[in-house]
Amino acid sequence: MNKSLRSFNTFGIEAHTEELIEITSVLQLRTVLKKITHPFYILGGGSNILLLNDLKGVVLKMSIPGIQIERDFKHAVYLSAGAGVNWHQLVLFAVKNNLGGLENLSLIPGTVGASPMQNIGAYGVEIKDIFHRLEAVEIATGKSKIFRKQALAFGYRNSIFKNKLKGKYIITKVWFKLSKPPHRLHLSYGAIKTVLAGAGIENPTIQDISNAVIKIRSEKLPDPEEIGNAGSFFKNPVIKKKLFAELYEQYPDIPHYPQSDGTIKLPAAWLIERCGWKGKRVGNTGTHVRQALVLVNYGNAKGAEIYTLAQEIQESVCQKFKISLEMEVNIWV
Ligand code: FAD
Ligand code: NAP
Repeated sequence: MNKSLRSFNTFGIEAHTEELIEITSVLQLRTVLKKITHPFYILGGGSNILLLNDLKGVVLKMSIPGIQIERDFKHAVYLSAGAGVNWHQLVLFAVKNNLGGLENLSLIPGTVGASPMQNIGAYGVEIKDIFHRLEAVEIATGKSKIFRKQALAFGYRNSIFKNKLKGKYIITKVWFKLSKPPHRLHLSYGAIKTVLAGAGIENPTIQDISNAVIKIRSEKLPDPEEIGNAGSFFKNPVIKKKLFAELYEQYPDIPHYPQSDGTIKLPAAWLIERCGWKGKRVGNTGTHVRQALVLVNYGNAKGAEIYTLAQEIQESVCQKFKISLEMEVNIWV
């Protein structure tokens, strides 16, 4: 166990791996897959993982570079990016070139290759809205395959790669279809409107939206450089109308967002806060003072400590609200 992974996961957990191989091309990836005999893990930016122990195996760090405008049409542009490209750098590239669709997803940590895994989303936009296709290498054969949108079964923080195809493919490149002006803007999230109004902006550009999202996120979310975290630890639960009606009777102030299929999405942060966890510290870990959905590492937390806290939170939310919170973060054992 010789390679520390502390700087490779945004929780800042000290865990080790036998070997870390940086993957910079599909060709190299194929060669490595042929040779490898140990179990292995695919790593992007490490912003959505929790390391429970040292890893008995090899970590493949996806660093395939390159952003490219592939096709330039009158109303749309097809942009591709290598799996190792930093997500926010891709957003900045698009915004700078006045290509619309990614601006609401500004400042999400991590890599392009991981973005389809959980259909990353924020402020009313998910990557499924601008996703065109991706290329992935099948682990069993080393062959590349193209997946189009329909094949990915995108859902709320979900895709086929978290279910049926879990552990079977390594994403190497992703294509997005972005708009040329006039752009369709997504301003429905209250906080975006408020920030734009506060800056006196009536007709926002995609640059204005990106700036607003960056401002909101920087003020609300803890920076992993300052305090270890992996963003939202749990998914926001989506519940049936019947359970919601029961809860609403008891908690008339419960924030809720009706979905098109009749279910209701609840902010997990509110449920956790109501169970008394917001800002609570337990040893080296706890929930963040401004956002109860974010579990943090105060410095020397072990992955297992954070996992135990997560389980305790799940139990109390289940007891109080009869809701099972699902972990969004990928647990590595
Ligand atoms: P990693 O953490 O390295 O990996 C995540 C999973 O994907 C692992 O299981 C890994 O094996 C797999 N994986 C990674 N790369 C590949 C690949 N190329 N091929 C196959 N499998 C791969 N998420 C949101 O959806 N919305 C947000 O607004 C958001 N905000 C966040 C804010 C903060 C402060 C933090 C720390 C996290 C946030 N996240 C958010 C979570 C996280 O940033 C995203 O899930 C991101 O896409 C993870 O990318 P990564 O490269 O860091 O993936
Ligand atoms: P927020 O804006 O306080 O909202 C909290 C919750 O309310 C979320 O469940 C959000 O759903 C929902 N919501 C708010 N306004 C909504 C609207 N107009 N329509 C439908 N649902 C609405 O949340 P936040 O914590 O500050 O995060 C802001 C955005 O960044 C959210 O989209 C959140 O998902 C995303 N984010 C994600 C992570 C992560 O790690 N996954 C980390 C930080 C932030 P949604 O979650 O579906 O948006």
